[in-house]
Amino acid sequence: MSNIKTYSKKKDGSTKLTSNFRVREFACNDGSDTIKIDLDNVKNLQQIRNHFGKAVNINSGYRTVAYNKKVGGVSNSYHTKGQAADIVISGVNARKVAMYAENISCHGVIWYPVKKFTHVDTRPGTFHAICVGSTYYSEPTVTLRKGTKGSNVKWLQYMLNELGYALAVDGSFGSATETAVREFQKKYGLTVDGLFGIKSRTKLKEVLM
Ligand SMILES: [Zn+2]
Repeated sequence: MSNIKTYSKKKDGSTKLTSNFRVREFACNDGSDTIKIDLDNVKNLQQIRNHFGKAVNINSGYRTVAYNKKVGGVSNSYHTKGQAADIVISGVNARKVAMYAENISCHGVIWYPVKKFTHVDTRPGTFHAICVGSTYYSEPTVTLRKGTKGSNVKWLQYMLNELGYALAVDGSFGSATETAVREFQKKYGLTVDGLFGIKSRTKLKEVLM
């Protein structure tokens, strides 16, 4: 779902889209007059704004194709379609913003822990991930267990480390990861089986939200 409109920064810049967002906040950082904005994305941003009760600053909203290329955005970035925003809320961990955005079913949510911002978009389908450097660790959609390897395991290890573990983020679900999962399950009253399934995942995200 998307509801993309095209605006002029000069003519429509001060137009309010929702109670806390104006057109100009989504302008391309290269100074272009044309601004594409998906009003469905703005609705999500307003919900995030209401939840935290603090200003949501848009570091990057709409991007022209040329500007997107210049800043090293992925080709076909949702920013170039007006469907994405990179946001920062002063005093709020970007991880919490990401977990909340995922909780309200934003389709594309990427947490940048190093650069300390959260990307939110209205792509079709769902992509929830952590981005470190240029690597994406995607949220698992299946049960992870000892022996599982891959990006989903890196997501799990990265998230567990947010709780104070010091796991190697190597994408390999070994004994140390299993022990951490069991400890986590015990602490939060889940079945202690060392399997990282939907209940454990939901709880882990809730704890880190
Ligand atoms: Zn982005």
